[in-house]
Amino acid sequence: MTDNAALLARRGAAVPHGVATAAPIFIDRAENAELWDVEGRRYIDFAGGIAVLNVGHRHPKVMAAVGKQLDRYTHVAFQVTAYEPYILLAERLNGLAPFRGPAKTIFFTTGAEAVENCIKIARAATGRSAVIAFTGAFHGRTMLSMALTGKVTPYKRQFGPSAPEVYHVPFPAAHLGVSVDDSLKALAYLFAADADPSRVAAIIVEPVQGEGGFNLAPPDLMRRLREICDEHGILLIVDEVQSGFARTGKMFGVEHSGVEPDLVAVAKSMAGGFPLSGIIGRAEIMNCVEPGGLGGTYAGSPVACAAALAVLDIIEDEGLLRRADELGGRIRSRVSRLAERNDIVPINALRGPGAMIGFDIVKARGTNDPDGATAKRVTALALAEGLVLLNAGVHGETIRILVPLTASDALVDEGLDCMERALVAAAAS
Ligand code: PMP
Repeated sequence: MTDNAALLARRGAAVPHGVATAAPIFIDRAENAELWDVEGRRYIDFAGGIAVLNVGHRHPKVMAAVGKQLDRYTHVAFQVTAYEPYILLAERLNGLAPFRGPAKTIFFTTGAEAVENCIKIARAATGRSAVIAFTGAFHGRTMLSMALTGKVTPYKRQFGPSAPEVYHVPFPAAHLGVSVDDSLKALAYLFAADADPSRVAAIIVEPVQGEGGFNLAPPDLMRRLREICDEHGILLIVDEVQSGFARTGKMFGVEHSGVEPDLVAVAKSMAGGFPLSGIIGRAEIMNCVEPGGLGGTYAGSPVACAAALAVLDIIEDEGLLRRADELGGRIRSRVSRLAERNDIVPINALRGPGAMIGFDIVKARGTNDPDGATAKRVTALALAEGLVLLNAGVHGETIRILVPLTASDALVDEGLDCMERALVAAAAS
């Protein structure tokens, strides 16, 4: 029988360690919010393939839609001969756009590609080149998205020189002592020191930082960024790759602020496990790129578009916006009770909207001193308890929960029991 140890050894010999894997197990099959490894051991999935499975693994409606599409055609390339699932999906997303006025949507394959193409469109539309992002941001690993990512190690350290004209300002996070005023003061300094606002094409922001630690962009930040963008003719891009498609209790995280962006990068949970990304944008901006300037061989795969159409139905039919809030409430109240206990590792700063929930492992109770090493131990111990759990945060100190929104209360409770045992075990070890 193939076992995890044998596969791990083969992985070590055949695959470079530049692509890291959080858990040393190999998956045999998955169903909704559960995974089984090649040794037949069952795990509860609080990672959802890194925010890809808001509707769970192999949702029957996704599988049926994909099956139907597989019977017709799998690939023709939208740039060669177009097909209806792409158009249908664009139409539906245009109707869901978190801004008023006409929208257009284009598809790609990965989140990084969606982000890069937002910048290309913004540069084409404004005739400007500079782009501003935030510290702690994660926008991808390709050259331009890597430049926008606001964390050096491991994402940028070995890969310079970085793309030019990309600047960062501090992301406001109350628990890290950075206020909205601090961020905007840094932006004003940046405008004075490095990038005159008349040279800035776009500001890109995650409505809830994902890899950076589930920090919600304060509504005040979003409003003031919108004002600054309007004042200087800068485009406001929101990266909804991780926060989109019901995770935060809204279709898009930016809706918590009421601010209307110009371009929205989407991916991950949009297609329920199939590789698909896209940009929903204001029509007049989206139309600024000449024919052929955007695209990709696999961009907008018909199989992935069919899956995404099913995902949108599921979000609606199963009331997943409301479910995200319910589940989030359940998880939040359990974690706040845990935070009061003395027999677990110190935790702090429980946060996040809807079911996009994170908290930090800290060195001492009542402090903000991040303890990434212990957080890593917690996720390893959770795996031993039968729970796949992810870290995040600049120091890896954040525990983040991305359980499928289709998981039952009983399964989520069982996962939280595993997490509790891991937090206790980490304090004892
Ligand atoms: N933006 C955000 C907010 C993300 O969380 C990620 C992936 N974690 C990306 C972009 C990049 O997506 P991909 O890995 O599909 O390129």
